[in-house]
Amino acid sequence: MKKLSEFQLIDQLKRFQGRSPRVIKGIGDDAAVLELDARRYQLFTTDMIVEGVHFLKGAAPRAIGHKALACNISDIAAMGGVPSFAVVSIGIPRGLSAGYVQRIYAGMSALAKKFGVSIVGGDTVKSDRLVINIALLGEVEKKHLVLRSGARPGDRIFVTGPLGGSLKSGRHLAFIPRVREARFLVKNFKPTSMLDISDGLAGDLGHILKAGNVGAVIDADRVPLNQGADFAAALADGEDFELLFSLPSEKARKLIQCGHQRSGFRFCEIGEIIGSPKKLFVRDVDGRRRMIEPKGFTHF
Ligand code: ADP
Ligand code: MG
Repeated sequence: MKKLSEFQLIDQLKRFQGRSPRVIKGIGDDAAVLELDARRYQLFTTDMIVEGVHFLKGAAPRAIGHKALACNISDIAAMGGVPSFAVVSIGIPRGLSAGYVQRIYAGMSALAKKFGVSIVGGDTVKSDRLVINIALLGEVEKKHLVLRSGARPGDRIFVTGPLGGSLKSGRHLAFIPRVREARFLVKNFKPTSMLDISDGLAGDLGHILKAGNVGAVIDADRVPLNQGADFAAALADGEDFELLFSLPSEKARKLIQCGHQRSGFRFCEIGEIIGSPKKLFVRDVDGRRRMIEPKGFTHF
């Protein structure tokens, strides 16, 4: 069988998706967007984490539980919404104690409490290795919904925090999903596009470029880096879970003027959307542009 990338495979699966008139956005964004009532959309997302892929066998069970829910909440944040209800399925290998599973749930429920999520069900099965899948509902006011597809030439590109080295540092297990930042943004600035960085800046910005049929220039020296990470790591490392978003230049100016003293958040401008479809450039300190592949980390 020909080896497909994760995204090529998902593209092929698109033809199986349902066509209910209540589906506003199906496959292809951070969460599905469904008609809810006159004022709000329902958001619906799922993410699975697998031992040996998304965490190592020796990881602390509370941290595993935290991560399993946090990556789902992050996808709701990326739509501009707030999370609400979760169901949790867990595949448990032989020999894992009930106490261990309870510690996973303790990590999960501490985060659930913080973000107003109620765990309301799930499934429990035997498995060769530990795997946790969560499906999460959320909601967003119609006027506050942000898709990946709205970036326009001239828009400025921002991230909500430093990038790179998430896996090496263990931050991928402990990150706090950016719901508060997202809510602040949709209420006050209305980004034209937004997603959470799960596969690295280059790859995830690539999704925004593809969805909006636009290009981008990133200023290498403006990308905020985590301690121990370099620019290459920011481009390619997965699981930073910061939000990446675009704003029209006028609003970008206002956001910067507002500053993090007043907003309480750290928004960093890192580049600009341009017209050339799906082309990604990096501008070095000396002003030279080079084109790079809009590809990041793939778990596949
Ligand atoms: P994220 O990293 O934001 O969770 P993914 O890269 O996992 O997003 O998925 C991209 C899009 O493809 C999402 O809209 C997701 O719902 C959809 N998707 C992923 N895997 C499948 C699948 N097996 N069947 C249907 N849709 C899928
Ligand atoms: Mg996402």
